[in-house]
Amino acid sequence: MTVDLAAWREPDSAPDPLARTVRDMLTRLGEDPSREGLLRTPERVADSLRFLSSGYTQSVEDVIGDAVFAEPYSEMVLVKDIEVYSLCEHHLLPFFGKAHVAYVPDGRIVGLSKLPRIVEVFARRLQVQERLTTQIAVAIEGALQPLGVAVVIEAAHLCMMMRGIQKQNTSTVTSTMRGVFLTDERTRMEFTDLLRRS
Ligand code: ZN
Repeated sequence: MTVDLAAWREPDSAPDPLARTVRDMLTRLGEDPSREGLLRTPERVADSLRFLSSGYTQSVEDVIGDAVFAEPYSEMVLVKDIEVYSLCEHHLLPFFGKAHVAYVPDGRIVGLSKLPRIVEVFARRLQVQERLTTQIAVAIEGALQPLGVAVVIEAAHLCMMMRGIQKQNTSTVTSTMRGVFLTDERTRMEFTDLLRRS
């Protein structure tokens, strides 16, 4: 099969500096970035990386907007199994899994769909799982001033699975507990009980 190279955009003239960097990386890896399969790869990788790090340009305030409501509900609110996809900051490889986010309101609740959005604001950055977990908890605490917040993330890290120790079935669990989740054992037990239930 012959390829009409003239029909493709000449990669060298790509105005996107990130795409140029990716193309340079391909060359340094020993690849030929002008072969058919790779011609548009630099642009795709650049776009993909921009999307996966788009959390830097988002703020929790923007995401929550006016979705905080006064409500005298003071029992635990738990959203389980929020899908998380992030990039480890050490290898730029994905880690992914599930986040469980709970809070005990103190007169203010937030629209339930906002909790996964808050997770995304921080997941779409270069991360370590520990910091991601804490940032989500701190953000909810700041937005709602609840009686307590708990965030648990279970994730698999491709940098452990594909390279390094090559352990295929490890799952990393991180948790941040604040307020009543720390001070009240009954609340903490209720939370862990709810997590165990499928
Ligand atoms: Zn890593």
